[in-house]
Amino acid sequence: MKFGGTSVADKDAICRVVDIVRRQWTSQPKASTPVVVVSALSKVTDGLIRTAAFAREGDGAKAVGLLNELLDRHVALAAALTTGERQQALRAALRAQFEELMGLVQALAVLREVSSRSHDALVSAGELASSRLVAEAFAEKGLPAVWVDARTVVVTDEEHTIAAPDMAASCARCREHLAPLTAGGQMPVLGGFIGATANGVTTTLGRGGSDYSAAIIGACLGVDEIQIWTDVDGMLTADPRLVTKPRVVPRLSFGEASELAYFGAKVLHPSTILPAVAENIPVRILNSRQPQNAGTLITSEGRQEGQLAAIACKRDVTVIDITSTRMFMAHGFLRRLFEVFEKFKTAVDVVTTSEVSVSVTVDDTRRLESILDNLRTFADVACEPAMAIVSIVGERLHDDPTLFAKAITALGGIPLRLVSQAASRRNITFVLRDADVAAAMTRLHDAFFSIPEPAKHAH
Ligand code: ASP
Ligand code: MG
Repeated sequence: MKFGGTSVADKDAICRVVDIVRRQWTSQPKASTPVVVVSALSKVTDGLIRTAAFAREGDGAKAVGLLNELLDRHVALAAALTTGERQQALRAALRAQFEELMGLVQALAVLREVSSRSHDALVSAGELASSRLVAEAFAEKGLPAVWVDARTVVVTDEEHTIAAPDMAASCARCREHLAPLTAGGQMPVLGGFIGATANGVTTTLGRGGSDYSAAIIGACLGVDEIQIWTDVDGMLTADPRLVTKPRVVPRLSFGEASELAYFGAKVLHPSTILPAVAENIPVRILNSRQPQNAGTLITSEGRQEGQLAAIACKRDVTVIDITSTRMFMAHGFLRRLFEVFEKFKTAVDVVTTSEVSVSVTVDDTRRLESILDNLRTFADVACEPAMAIVSIVGERLHDDPTLFAKAITALGGIPLRLVSQAASRRNITFVLRDADVAAAMTRLHDAFFSIPEPAKHAH
């Protein structure tokens, strides 16, 4: 069970987590005691990153001031959630942890230099502190919680700030440190996002990395299910800012989840659940404010009831048309063309071709002028800003050709700039004017997700 930053943000949130975990624990046979992974309290990682920035600027006093504020927030929560000796010990542990960091930032401020290794030492404090706090809050409320330092369990490479797990080593550590606890009915509580190299140097897995931790640990232990508890009801059928009343997608395949994440569905980044995918472990997204809701279940096969899983979009992209009557059929043309994008480190999203032209979309336009200049050395180039990508996603697109016709009919009248269906055939992508996005999304959503009016019962 992984709880994100907003799910452990304050006293009320942590009390909700206690209830959720207790319900899970008492509803399961004792042999399946949950393992709990928590993020830092909401905004704490951002704060720690700011202390690193102050240190880099040589402002040790500001860095220490901010660390004191963060310490106070944790200590206030410790006081609100625990009592007596437990509270004394927890406060002392938090204080010791933050005092060590204050020494570190002052040293870094003198050097005005924060290496990525020091950066990890600083930002890991958020998850170390939140997991200690949550473990003690659990114990206070009678749950058999044991705090485990995640750095003894998640073994990573040395790529500080974006470390990758060593699965074999992590699995061995999980078997050694976690399995005996759960087998004895105890409930390990650990911080997400953090790990350590084989030599024990603290590392972090990248922003939002607590989901990754949950997937690594879940995969290593071969759990029945990984639950990602967050502050929304799950993946939605469309962006609620564009479509009125989108619905929660009850089930998704891993492939569909990846397509949606690519288009910026922020709930969960599927690359972070790859260890779970590899072990075929279902991942459930749940709302810690509405724990009774079913959420979204992501499994290898998916199996949703409707025709589509969801509709996604990416706004404000630029279409570039590259035309060359002379060169197009010549071998090497596409290589030459894409080398330009590679040279300027700009990712291309959608690609379509016609007889003599290639069209691509990009969303990063920082190097657009240089890209266009380079392309012009061997082709005619036209460029159209303020476009958008709308994508319908679902495994059924694979084998039901009527769905494409249905989408085109729904979009009738809206000018489509590019259309593409990739080999995976789990999405069909339309590129259209950004100004038409809301209309396109609404029409597609009405066509594929409208709920029939409930029948009126005569009583
Ligand atoms: N606390 C880390 C972050 O904010 C990791 C996480 O929340 O998953 O990026
Ligand atoms: Mg998070």
